Amino acid sequence: IVYDLVDLGVVLREIMPIVQSEALLHGMTIQFDSERLFPKVVADREMLKQVFLNICKNGLEAMSSGGVLTVSGRVERENGFGRWVHIDIHDSGPGIPPAIMEKMFDPFVTTKESGTGLGLSVCQRIIHDMGGVIRAASKEGGTTFTVSIPCSFDEK
Ligand code: ADP
Ligand code: MG
Repeated sequence: IVYDLVDLGVVLREIMPIVQSEALLHGMTIQFDSERLFPKVVADREMLKQVFLNICKNGLEAMSSGGVLTVSGRVERENGFGRWVHIDIHDSGPGIPPAIMEKMFDPFVTTKESGTGLGLSVCQRIIHDMGGVIRAASKEGGTTFTVSIPCSFDEK
């Protein structure tokens, strides 16, 4: 693990071509504003890429042709010094059943024929180690994964 000050925008822009081509292949659309400024976070750059790739991939795997995956970010100021950057990854898939929702961050939990069930547990560990948190909100017609990471910069 190599911690650096990593520009989240650079990380997201780097994974987008991979996500984009996967989406194109299956008739899905990606919404991502590549012009947007993102703050820097203290992270292992390659691991952070894995996190967003995994979550985007899950989103694509949950959707069928015509689906839309939206990646967006926002900064939240806490009183005092703290700032959080929240990255929202929303898919227009069927949502996650409550029974899966409860345990999907555990290793080996998968509903896929050839899934490993390791994606989310690894993502969770990486983000926890950075002092961050991953949350999921799901209803029929869509799921949003929110990756929240502490940051200290003023950019939006
Ligand atoms: P895998 O992708 O190998 O199944 P993950 O840990 O990445 O393992 O995901 C675990 C499970 O969580 C998936 O099998 C799926 O049932 C559920 N899941 C994750 N993301 C989504 C999503 N965006 N929409 C619906 N279900 C999801
Ligand atoms: Mg996965």
